[in-house]
This record gives sequence, structure tokens and C-alpha cells, in this order.
Amino acid sequence: MRKTKLSAILGAGILASLVLTGCAEGAPPAAGGGEEGTTTGEAPVFDVATDVTIEGSPTFDKITAAGGKVVVGVKEDQPNLGYLDAVTGERTGFDVDVARWMAASLGVSDENIEFKAIPSANREQAIINGDIDYYVGTYSITDKRKDQIDFAGPYFETGQGLLVGADSEITGVDDLSAETNVCSATGSTPIQNIREKYPEVKTTEFEKYSECVEALINGQVDAVTTDEAILIGYAAQNPEALKVVGEPFSTELYGIGLAKGDDALRDHFNTTLEEGGDVWQSIFDYNLGSSGTTVSQPAPDRY
Ligand code: GLU
Repeated sequence: MRKTKLSAILGAGILASLVLTGCAEGAPPAAGGGEEGTTTGEAPVFDVATDVTIEGSPTFDKITAAGGKVVVGVKEDQPNLGYLDAVTGERTGFDVDVARWMAASLGVSDENIEFKAIPSANREQAIINGDIDYYVGTYSITDKRKDQIDFAGPYFETGQGLLVGADSEITGVDDLSAETNVCSATGSTPIQNIREKYPEVKTTEFEKYSECVEALINGQVDAVTTDEAILIGYAAQNPEALKVVGEPFSTELYGIGLAKGDDALRDHFNTTLEEGGDVWQSIFDYNLGSSGTTVSQPAPDRY
């Protein structure tokens, strides 16, 4: 495999630690944004609802029985979307804020939210097991997943894209071939999609996208594929080394994963999303406003 320019400019180890810990220059900005950051404006503040009742929701009953504490599944290695700053312990991102917003709608304030990082492949099982009360983390709504769990939303739309080294000659998905190795996360829609539509292309899987980005930086793979919104976050972390190329080649609608059959909770979240256009916009502006991602709030699907 050809060494990419980026691993030559910057030691792969240094880059890997940037990606994994986000504790240096290329890390996404802390809340409040910064000159080089992609966040804008004020951190959104959510009104914590009072006297909430959700008739017939087993999840809400469980939250109440736990003294008003929720456990929320998230990602923590996806800048601008779901990110944990290993140094400050602060969680940021569009999805993390949506998770906080939904908690507030249940009457749960920030200090009563326990976040659990769950990788793509383990999301359905975590919901089925009751390890988490709901999941907000670049989770595409699919019929297959709906066999096991339910989704509120969609609350966001993006599409599958490609991340390559800054000096790569790959300009889009049609440049992938039997000679190229593309990396994605186990159990994700993009790994399935690439295998189905481009069966000749070599694939590598890791649990997390940050591991794929590390492999790209080290020259072990030629591209990373997943949702553009995710890839834009990695490229923004390291613009000298990484670039997003081509046009999106799928439609990914993000939903809030919750226990199958908890229609009362799904309705409650959908109503919160529907009535909270201004809140949605403030979350978007703060986390993704200057990222280059342009999206407006999709209407929830009350299936
Ligand atoms: N949205 C896609 C999915 O749900 C890719 C991102 C992810 O793995 O979280 O599979």
C-alpha cells in the first residue's frame, strides 16, 4: 500500500493520538466554539419539563422508578455529532444535544443523564437488553432494524460519502476498485451498502470510525466510508491530511432508537421534535452551523 502524504508530513502515531484523544490542535472546539471551530453561537439550553407523565411507556416507568435518571446510548468518537473530550470529560455534538433535549422533555436534567458509548454493531442489542433507555448516535432508520427496535424521528438527514487522504486520486465512489481498500464500521449501513453495490471493492471493518480514520492516516486503507456528516467532522479535525470527496451515494435518515413497542415514548419524542423547530435549529447552528453540512429538520415519521 502506498504511503499517503499525510503520514509523511505528520507521524502516524501523533495523528492517531489526535484522532483518538482529540486533545490537541485538531480536536473539535469545546462548547462555545472558537475561531477554528465548527460550532457557532451559544450552547443550547433546554427547558426541563415538569410534571411529565407518559401513559403506557415502559421506558418512562423505568426512568421514574430509577429516581428520574436516564441512560442514553451515544457515540463518542464522532466530532460535531457525538464526541467525548478525553481531557475535559465534556460530551459535545449534535446527537448529544438531541439526547439532552429529549431527556429535558422527559423532565430529566443534565446531571441525571448517564451517557454510554455503544458502537454501531451493538445498538439494537443494547436497546433490547434495556442497557440504555434510548440511543442518539448517527443511527439510520432501516426496516431491518425496525424488526428489533423502534425509532422516533427522523431528526436529521445525510448520505454516505468518502473520506480520503489529502493527496489521494480517488474523487468519488466510482474510483473504488478491486485495487482499493475501503474501511467502515461493523454493523453499519455503509459497510453493507458498499458490499452490496460495489462487491469487487476490498473492505476493512473496525468497531469504530475513528479506527478507520487511523488506518487511513497510517496508509493501511485507501478510504473511509460512512455518512458525510461524520466524515466532515473528521476532515475538519485534520484538514491538511484528510478530505471528503464525491457526492453522497445513499440517503441516511437518523432516528432515536428505543424499545420496540414503546409507542407512547416514540409519540412523545416525535411531538417534542415536531414542536421544537427552534430548538432543533439552535442545536444545528451550534454544532454543525459552520461545518459545511446543510440540512433542514425533516418531519418525524409517525409510522
Ligand atoms: N448511519 C449509519 C448507520 O446507522 C452509519 C453511521 C453509524 O454507523 O452510526 O449505520
